[in-house]
Amino acid sequence: MSKILLYYQFRPIADPRAVMLWQRDLCESLGLTGRILVSKHGINGTVGGPMSACKRYVRKTREYFKGMEFKWSEGGAEDFPKLSVKVRDEIVAFGAPDELKVDENGVVGGGTHVKPEELHELVEKRGDDVVFFDGRNALEAQIGKFKNAVVPETNTTHDFITELESGKYDWMKDKPVVSYCTGGIRCEVLSSLMINRGFKEVYQLDGGIVRYGEKYGNKGLWEGSLYVFDRRMHMEFGEDAAQLGHCVQCDAPTNTFHNCVNEDDCRRQILLCDDCASDASTAHCGGTVCAEVAAEQA
Ligand SMILES: [Zn+2]
Ligand SMILES: [Zn+2]
Repeated sequence: MSKILLYYQFRPIADPRAVMLWQRDLCESLGLTGRILVSKHGINGTVGGPMSACKRYVRKTREYFKGMEFKWSEGGAEDFPKLSVKVRDEIVAFGAPDELKVDENGVVGGGTHVKPEELHELVEKRGDDVVFFDGRNALEAQIGKFKNAVVPETNTTHDFITELESGKYDWMKDKPVVSYCTGGIRCEVLSSLMINRGFKEVYQLDGGIVRYGEKYGNKGLWEGSLYVFDRRMHMEFGEDAAQLGHCVQCDAPTNTFHNCVNEDDCRRQILLCDDCASDASTAHCGGTVCAEVAAEQA
């Protein structure tokens, strides 16, 4: 039986390269594949392989990364063609490697962690004053988000600092703000960047949307599908999930992203219904040039 492990930990790493080499050897010796990033602030990884190898990996890795939580998921080595273990300036690319501070307990000066049930308590107590702030790329929120969440205009995580400093979100600086993302790692950094820029009461959803969805499904404050970074592309918390996404061509409900047919020049991922996606003349993002390319290919 095969499994996937997802994990991260923020803590100072004096010699990221040594940790990278150790992790690469460890994965190779256990036959695990996947993707691991190491920086001076910590580690962020997704690895897959046989159950017994995963168990040994957890035990060995915890010898250095004490107390690290691992999330077990369905899947295996077949979900990752190879092993990639790299040293980077950041384990989540916000473009602020010198601003992030970590110690043995994690990120220094980040938002207050709230568990799903604590989030509900906060909303009960503070009502509409609570602002949900989406810590993902805007695209991901097209198919699912917390009700009434604020979705920043971000193509990549790199865009957050410009967004936060644009003045657009200054109205929420005195409000309780809950940042959330897929599994929680992006908000570890984002919430600290927000606090550094004058947001006074910042929370971060522990375990992210994944843990929230496991607890409340579609019966809570979450709406729609969750964008995921593997070949599934999206997942739902039960069959009663709301359909938030719409085809850019015909407006039909859909939660499936496709690459624009003009792949050479347009890198956009767009929502398309099955009909529009299967016809080359409509499998484009709507841009003038892309529409022309699509017409030629049809
Ligand atoms: Zn369509
Ligand atoms: Zn396009």
